[in-house]
Amino acid sequence: MAKVTTNAPSSATDSQVGQTDLRRAGLKVTHPRLRILHVLEHSEKRHLTAEDVYRQLLQQGEDAGLTTIYRVLTQFETAGLVVRHNFGEGRSVFELDKGEHHDHLLCVACGQVEEFIDDVIEKRQREVAAEKGYEMTDHYLHIYGICAACRDKQK
Ligand SMILES: [Zn+2]
Ligand SMILES: [Zn+2]
Repeated sequence: MAKVTTNAPSSATDSQVGQTDLRRAGLKVTHPRLRILHVLEHSEKRHLTAEDVYRQLLQQGEDAGLTTIYRVLTQFETAGLVVRHNFGEGRSVFELDKGEHHDHLLCVACGQVEEFIDDVIEKRQREVAAEKGYEMTDHYLHIYGICAACRDKQK
């Protein structure tokens, strides 16, 4: 019986994709890097703390250790694979860098992070910078609040 094999790029395994991503970022392929990249690429949540990554790896039967995870995430950040957001109180959240600008809403009760983009805010910021003689190159906007689910619980 003939085995059907496909060589289409879409059939590349996650591991192959991860290896390509690491090499493209100029990083050597190591087991922890591959596993952590896999978590970032397949997690339901796009914004993860190092602890989130640690827990997801544990669920997959891998005890990578928080120190390793922090180190690898920082290497990813330096290589431009991920963006780190500092939401205060030492709360660092990592997301894959898709190269698209967006701002964030953070729930101070449960830590949920949501993304948004508002054309009026974007435009105003460029105007404010221009009024001061600046050409805006980047900005970060974090809105802190209590999410709908947490507000329901408080009732
Ligand atoms: Zn919440
Ligand atoms: Zn984001």
